[in-house]
Amino acid sequence: MSNLAAHIDRNAAFAPGKAALRFEGAAISYAAFAQEIARAARMLRAVHGVRPGDRVAVLAANHPAYLSLLYACARLGAILLPLNWRLAAPELRYILEHAEPRVAFAEPAFTETLREAAPGLPAAPLVIPDGEGDAEGPGTLEDPLLLVYTSGTTGRPKGALLAQEAILHNAVMSHHMHGMTAADHVLAVLPFFHVGGLNIQTTPALQAGATVTIHARFAADAVLAAVQSDHPSLLLTVPATLRALLAAPGWHGADLSSLRAISTGSEPVHPALVEAVTARGLPLLQVYGATESCPIAIYTRLGDAAPAPTSTGLPGLLCEARVADDEGRELPHGTAGEVLLRGRNLFRGYWRDEAATAACVTKGWYRTGDIATRDAAGHFHVHDRRKNLIISGGENIYPAEVERVLLEHPAIAEAAVLGAPDPKWQEVPVAFLVLRPGACLTEDAVRDHVAAGLARFKVPRRVVFTDALPRTALGKVRHFELRPLMETARA
Ligand code: ATP
Repeated sequence: MSNLAAHIDRNAAFAPGKAALRFEGAAISYAAFAQEIARAARMLRAVHGVRPGDRVAVLAANHPAYLSLLYACARLGAILLPLNWRLAAPELRYILEHAEPRVAFAEPAFTETLREAAPGLPAAPLVIPDGEGDAEGPGTLEDPLLLVYTSGTTGRPKGALLAQEAILHNAVMSHHMHGMTAADHVLAVLPFFHVGGLNIQTTPALQAGATVTIHARFAADAVLAAVQSDHPSLLLTVPATLRALLAAPGWHGADLSSLRAISTGSEPVHPALVEAVTARGLPLLQVYGATESCPIAIYTRLGDAAPAPTSTGLPGLLCEARVADDEGRELPHGTAGEVLLRGRNLFRGYWRDEAATAACVTKGWYRTGDIATRDAAGHFHVHDRRKNLIISGGENIYPAEVERVLLEHPAIAEAAVLGAPDPKWQEVPVAFLVLRPGACLTEDAVRDHVAAGLARFKVPRRVVFTDALPRTALGKVRHFELRPLMETARA
């Protein structure tokens, strides 16, 4: 019976000695990786009693064993539950009580947090012991494989359930997007607990028989050093990590010639980032998606003419996408509406939350809650989340557009814009800003800067200077955490 682990066996048959993974200077061949997966499957079944449909939690930085557990779950028809290691014990407790895993694997640095979050949960170290017995399992491509709790930019996380076939469809789209083959070498530096870190390049590369070099955590200097010493061909970033790379002292002198492209997504990408990467002769491929779409849905393809820098590209090879009105009807190009997605890369629903699933899935279409416009060539331009939209005096304001202009000011390091209730205008924009070290800026200067580039109603009515913005592990601003600060600022 075919499952994702069987595909690794196939790649091991084609090229047993080829490096599947590289970690901390050591290479793991496809043959050795296939054996590790078999060993992990035996261990899960014999030691922990894992059966089809059981959840297996992992609380660890990126590590080869993470992927062995993923594919072992695929073989057994079990479900991997990757946990965000930046969460505090009460946040983890919510997820663990909701998902009820049979066992949790944790690296030593996180065992204490795990114990605090779930004292009764069997915990195991991230070491896969030798085991006897049969490594075969009943897992199929139809079975769910990943339970990923969304990053929580809009509130309490929900568990998106992704099937093996969704990961396979996602892999095909990554191959299409990157022109990926067995000859590729992916540098994987984003966290595996996020579908982007796991599935935009890592599982697609292993499906293609390519090599993945794993970094436990992102560190800009280490990435630049690895690009020069290990010669990867592909690198996936999010805007926050890309900004860190561009700001690293080594960026300008670094030899990036092994890279065919850098990919980025997860939030609107500032055109300045696109320019900075393309100025080095490298294509910056944009990708749009969500946990619920595994995540690849819309992308720019390597080798095609670069679209406008504000475009995230076209619907992927195996994912339909439309810009629709509230009834789900496709809107003409140039008209803003909600992004709807459909395809076998989509999630099966939210874990134990039928109401939340029904609220965003209609006739097979996933309503993303994002607002976009298509241009005449069909390219998608994602403006912002619908929830973030500010309606002021009947006019729509996309906070992301105001944030983009704010970030063009040399004194502003970080910006977030929210709508505050207003008796006259219904809502008015309020800006939260982090200034660059040593910089000084008045509220009026901020307003003048925005007014020079945008309509008057988009100019922040109030400006709150702060030391840091609350962010998710991927660097996205947690807008809902800023709302209480807005009340304080007003008082
Ligand atoms: P939560 O759903 O818990 O609030 P989250 O939405 O951040 O968290 P993810 O699934 O990680 O969880 O993020 C998906 C969202 O990220 C999309 O719905 C969209 O708003 C945003 N996004 C992803 N890629 C892009 C992109 N290229 N451009 C603009 N926005 C993007």
